[in-house]
Amino acid sequence: MSTFHTQILTPTGVAYEGETESVKVPGQLGSFEVRRNHAPMVSLMNIGVARVTGSDSKEQLFAISGGFTEVNDNTVIIMAEAAEEQHDIDVERAKKAKAKAEEELKKGPKDLTLRKAELRLKRAINRIKVSEL
Ligand code: ATP
Repeated sequence: MSTFHTQILTPTGVAYEGETESVKVPGQLGSFEVRRNHAPMVSLMNIGVARVTGSDSKEQLFAISGGFTEVNDNTVIIMAEAAEEQHDIDVERAKKAKAKAEEELKKGPKDLTLRKAELRLKRAINRIKVSEL
């Protein structure tokens, strides 16, 4: 079996660690897939979904809130600002965060507040989307 080691790290801990067959990452220039013997690289990540296929061929989905991915020597390290496995997503919380961000955005442009609300909205929409995949 052609596997490699993958870790998803967040500021609060290790969201995933294991031997993997394939990892699909939401790269800033589009989603990309890593398999064994991928060339070394570093990529920024968008808010999106990571699809991790373990050595047992089972796929796990993660909502990723940006960060970067490093691939080197058959090791993938996904450094995410936040990452939740699909089944750990609190959909009610994401819906509340979405509504709150939409309220903030309605108040009109206020530079940093607006940018923060936009990002919060994107994270919430992504979590809801990943929970429904
Ligand atoms: P909220 O307003 O609900 O806090 P947020 O997008 O501002 O949403 P983040 O700052 O991205 O939240 O995340 C803070 C922490 O809470 C992270 O550890 C993240 O994994 C977790 N988290 C945020 N939203 C959810 C959710 N809907 N389900 C599970 N965990 C979540």
